[in-house]
Amino acid sequence: MENINTMEAKKQQEIINVLKLQFAEMEEKEGRKKTFHIETFGCQMNSRDSEKISGILKEIGYVETDTEEADFVLYNTCTVRENANNKLYGHLGFAGKLKKKNPDMLIAICGCMMQEHEAVENIKSKYRFVDIIFGTHNIFKFAELLQTRLISDRVVIDIWKDTKMIIEDLPNDRKYSFKSGVNIMYGCNNFCSYCIVPYVRGRERSRNPKDIIEEIKTLAADGVVEIMLLGQNVNSYGKNLDDPITFAQLLQEIEKIDGIERIRFMTPHPKDLSQELIDTMKNSSKICKHLHLPIQSGSSRLLKIMNRKYTKEGYLDLVRRIREAIPDISLTTDIIVGFPGETEEDFLETLDVVGQVGYDSAFTFLYSRRTGTPAATMENQVEDNVAKDRFDRLLKLVQEGSAKSAGRDEHTSQKVLVEEVNSQNPELLTGRLSNNILVHFKGDTSLIGSIVEVYLKESKGFYYMGELLDL
Ligand code: SF4
Repeated sequence: MENINTMEAKKQQEIINVLKLQFAEMEEKEGRKKTFHIETFGCQMNSRDSEKISGILKEIGYVETDTEEADFVLYNTCTVRENANNKLYGHLGFAGKLKKKNPDMLIAICGCMMQEHEAVENIKSKYRFVDIIFGTHNIFKFAELLQTRLISDRVVIDIWKDTKMIIEDLPNDRKYSFKSGVNIMYGCNNFCSYCIVPYVRGRERSRNPKDIIEEIKTLAADGVVEIMLLGQNVNSYGKNLDDPITFAQLLQEIEKIDGIERIRFMTPHPKDLSQELIDTMKNSSKICKHLHLPIQSGSSRLLKIMNRKYTKEGYLDLVRRIREAIPDISLTTDIIVGFPGETEEDFLETLDVVGQVGYDSAFTFLYSRRTGTPAATMENQVEDNVAKDRFDRLLKLVQEGSAKSAGRDEHTSQKVLVEEVNSQNPELLTGRLSNNILVHFKGDTSLIGSIVEVYLKESKGFYYMGELLDL
């Protein structure tokens, strides 16, 4: 008995095949292919979803263009911060004008913001020219939604509250030939009190390890050498599987895949980062020496109100064990300043952790009230000027820490994945170390996508200038 996911994948592929014939006829008639453009906001999960939609559009017969002046435009939205929504409305204002000039143009919106009822109602009332609206749970249905719009000539809105479905084997269009994001799970059950993600990305569901391994083997055969495993909280991987395996066990299986030389993952939650995972990273020759470990606050009192499920002491002990096992690991983090109720004492605890850990870098955020989250209605919202002052003090300390750790690999030779021609200087190539730091060096563009040995001549703070060693 075929499972529902496989049947759905077949159904969507059949629709893609039908549209393909239709678009081939249109191309013949109009003498040109239809063009598409995708604007992606937010995180790597969104970028991965956009690659899937781009894959479907290309298979149907569209060609990609880098401007919104296209026959089909999709906005893949983020809603993690209140102002993310405003970005979309700005683009829709422009898209509306374009559609006046080209009434056959199709405009679609998907992603996290569309999981919010108010946002969808706002678009239905103020941006009536939008043709297709869907959310985060039914990205795989895109071809069907497009077909419905083309047949019905009416606005198509299809937003799911949640889903247990995971649809594999649909087209996808990777941005890079040599590296790729790989979803291992979707959704989040953590409900940190400031975060909207669990409400827009649904409950945690892990992909079957066989499907993940299969996908990575296919990527390796296709020339991919580096993969980024993606999940809101990768440590929770496997918990809802019929035969549960841990994230560390999944990594051990991926390690065996020939052709894959580097493994990265995003994002591990400190509450359940296991010793098993630390030991797996230590014993691995492929897992990169970089860990992004969001702390958010250094105050155990505030961490409790944030519902982060770990304490300052627990986090510092975790860092100690990680550094014991992998001394040259690069640690980065996320920190929120100005969370409701944050006192000067709480903030000093945050500075204390930053001082003790000495992060290579940190994403620092001013708390942004997010409607729909528990924190948004909490009392003791911190005044803007107080939060701003703390933000500046934190940034100063983080930069001091980065400056101290920057350059620690100067005058050593390191393996570098060559990623692109340097955007500032076309004579240089840009590559990335295992610890995620950038290196610029002279070399032939044929090296892009390969891992080479580079001597790190000089540190420039957040990057190195290097010299390619004999191949
Ligand atoms: S772990 Fe917390 S911050 Fe991260 S996505 Fe889940 S709820 Fe949001």
